[in-house]
Amino acid sequence: MPASVPDHPAVNEAMQYCSACGKTVTSAIPDGDNRLRAICTACGTVHYQNPKIVAGCVPEHEGQILLCRRAIEPRCGFWTVPAGFMELGETLAEAALRETWEEALARVEIGPLFAAVDVIHAGQVHVFFSGVLARPEFGAGAETIETRLFLPADIPWSELAFPSIRIALERYLEIRRTGNQLVYLASAPRSIRG
Ligand SMILES: [Zn+2]
Repeated sequence: MPASVPDHPAVNEAMQYCSACGKTVTSAIPDGDNRLRAICTACGTVHYQNPKIVAGCVPEHEGQILLCRRAIEPRCGFWTVPAGFMELGETLAEAALRETWEEALARVEIGPLFAAVDVIHAGQVHVFFSGVLARPEFGAGAETIETRLFLPADIPWSELAFPSIRIALERYLEIRRTGNQLVYLASAPRSIRG
């Protein structure tokens, strides 16, 4: 199998019914294609499924980093940076800005994009911007239990919500140390390390 083809199903097994006509879908390779797709057994619509983009921000205020504790599953109760699914009609940076407002009730100035993390098993790509929180004004949005500023030494590494969040925070702190602003491309493991 070529390295570029992932070793997991390309078809989302959760899809059972055609969104065009409501009949059942099946998994098959369409003519001229090279991988399994969800195809409607009645109207023939091919339902292409592609990765979703999650945009996030590492907000910094005077050397401290703003983290949110999740109030929703998955990983309820664990810490994250503000991040969420990009919406149609917005840019990556606008998505990061919006998520930071919705989850942390914080107005940040979005800075450079510094990391892109492939999350193959979830069918997602997570991208992270740096952000400047001019004033220490923040709160808990609807999906957040609490929001706090952490000194780098106090980051709760063993209580982070997702591997990509650890990657983003590690990379962010590395940039602060080294000044190397090159965008970092990484792949997230399936499970979080402590
Ligand atoms: Zn159909």
